[in-house]
Amino acid sequence: MAYDESNIFAKILRGEIPCDKIYEDDHALAFNDINPQAPTHVLVIPKGAYVSFDDFSRDAPDEEIAGFFRAAGKIARDLGAVDPGYRILANNGPDAHQEVPHFHLHIFAGKNLGRMIKPVDK
Ligand code: AMP
Repeated sequence: MAYDESNIFAKILRGEIPCDKIYEDDHALAFNDINPQAPTHVLVIPKGAYVSFDDFSRDAPDEEIAGFFRAAGKIARDLGAVDPGYRILANNGPDAHQEVPHFHLHIFAGKNLGRMIKPVDK
């Protein structure tokens, strides 16, 4: 899937639409999710043009991958989420219901998050 420069996170990165920014460095931008699913729900996006975890993990230079994941860890620490616990999640493609085709991590925290996903129906 080719990267679509008109996706909403690309527009946020270009400053064309606002976001509720909580962190930015050379490799990552983080902002509050517009439709939070937990008391803390932050999105962390790489600055490069990657559709999903698939092309990010395959094509991004090591420096970008390291910078991105180090930023995500720092953001979780800065949110005070390490001791109580938090969840990181990346939706990849249709079965995961990925809505925005720019790779992003969700950070969920601020309550007991329950089981990771529903058990498979038997
Ligand atoms: P995903 O289903 O993993 O692609 O998640 C996309 C997330 O982006 C959803 O949780 C949306 O609520 C969130 N979202 C969409 N537009 C915006 C926006 N303009 N600012 C912040 N979060 C957004």
